[in-house]
Amino acid sequence: MSPKYIFITGGVVSSLGKGLTSASIGLLLERCGHKIAMLKLDPYLNVDPGTMSPFQHGEVYVTDDGAETDLDLGHYYRYTDSPLSRASNVTSGQIYETVLKKERRGDYLGKTVQVIPHITNEIKARILACGKEDADVVLVEIGGTVGDIESLPFLEAIRQFRYERKADCINIHLTYVPYLKAAGEVKTKPTQHSVQVLREIGIIPDVILCRCEESLSKEIKEKISLFCNVPEESVIDEKDVEESIYEVPLDLHNQGLDAMICKMLNLSMKTADFTDWKEMLYKVTHPKGKVVVGIVGKYLDHQDAYKSVFEALHHAAIHANVELEIRKFESDRIIENGSVEKAIQGCDGYVVPGGFGERGWEGKVLTAKYCRENKIPYFGLCLGMQILLIEFARNVLGLKEANSTEVNLNTPHPIISLLSEQKKVENLGGTMRLGAYLCDLDPTSLAYKAYEQNIISERHRHRYEFNNAYKKAFEEKGMLFSGNLHKGSLCEISEVREHPWMLGVQFHPEFKSKPLNPHPLFRDFIAYLAGLHQHKESWEKSPQLTSV
Ligand code: GLN
Repeated sequence: MSPKYIFITGGVVSSLGKGLTSASIGLLLERCGHKIAMLKLDPYLNVDPGTMSPFQHGEVYVTDDGAETDLDLGHYYRYTDSPLSRASNVTSGQIYETVLKKERRGDYLGKTVQVIPHITNEIKARILACGKEDADVVLVEIGGTVGDIESLPFLEAIRQFRYERKADCINIHLTYVPYLKAAGEVKTKPTQHSVQVLREIGIIPDVILCRCEESLSKEIKEKISLFCNVPEESVIDEKDVEESIYEVPLDLHNQGLDAMICKMLNLSMKTADFTDWKEMLYKVTHPKGKVVVGIVGKYLDHQDAYKSVFEALHHAAIHANVELEIRKFESDRIIENGSVEKAIQGCDGYVVPGGFGERGWEGKVLTAKYCRENKIPYFGLCLGMQILLIEFARNVLGLKEANSTEVNLNTPHPIISLLSEQKKVENLGGTMRLGAYLCDLDPTSLAYKAYEQNIISERHRHRYEFNNAYKKAFEEKGMLFSGNLHKGSLCEISEVREHPWMLGVQFHPEFKSKPLNPHPLFRDFIAYLAGLHQHKESWEKSPQLTSV
């Protein structure tokens, strides 16, 4: 049977949480018994976000098959079981690249290649491809805001797609209904206008989701219904959450959105059970303690740059039933402040996340030194592991000028360097070590204690690697290389033996954490900070991630 399609558009302003809303709808449909697939369409011309700065675009989320994708796919992963791959994020850049390649090959010989039908056909083909893997429902989120010139071909493709499959498609439009303090009123005009834009294109929304501060009154819903041509019951509010973004699906469920969608699409519906989700939210609002985690990075002014890291820490805190306070430290500023200790002290543990380039580098190295010398927990993610090793080389092995060739090509001790295949790379886009790799664990390690598995699978996104020429010297001074590339010789996890919890990973565990299934390393890191390791018997482990 052909799948049903839900198109999710956004109006008025960006940053309304369209990805999170789409993921929440995905979860609702799964709980109603349906298999879903999720697709993000991004109107920008980059082939993927991998070449964009975190300041421009926020985090780059990596899938198992090595695609560098939009951070909304992280929401899809955290809320749903939808399969995610290279096919789950399509950009205008990819669409045009494909069409232009076909043109050069001569596939359109004799024809003028145009946005309609060639670009729109390619978009429709990508949507159809996403539904091939026996999904009951395909959720398609369109990036940007209606009215943007860039998103027009996508909206036109959706209009055509809907026209060809009337009974199988609906459109959910997410909009903003602001409260104007000066007027003391909630305003519907921006919503009316954004729906007007959609209707000009030929798309009539079936459901209007209204982002708002407080629940909307009946009068306001009536007004939106009248002006926007949707029944009043299909105007649903999505108000600001109180404690956690994981409240969103329950709020939508409580307003009957899942039942409404199933009815519109003629889908069967089993009674959705949210017991586990509610228990998780109960823990958020009833913490039994608190941990303070310092993040020492360099894109902290952009709230989305480390999205998955923040979420993974939150999942672990929920699991440990503690409140989490995250303190952010810009690594280039902590040195300006004089002593690093003074600048960052006071947290229970520190995370040094991924990053690129020289700015803020030495601040991170000093953070690792502070943590190692004072036996304060340290968790290094990707660059954070490289930093851990550089600090160890400089201050334990006595190789004062040890560094990564990423920031010092002429270092006499290239502890972190490029593999020969990376030296040949010319294009920057899509050429890092990307995607899932298997890793063998040392059974005596903290890592093994966390995963309780011999072989794990984790996702990578980096160019540089630990230089094995130094491995023996590190081991002799107490470094445990506890994770190694399966059937290979690359260092994937390192731990400082004489330290209670100082661990770095070359991969990105944050991409594989879910609120109901926290990543084992984040879970153990937070549990350690919360002191739970002292009475581990009362702290039940969560189910293990399925790996390999
Ligand atoms: N800049 C480092 C590298 O390319 C680390 C990358 C990262 O943290 N994702 O190897």
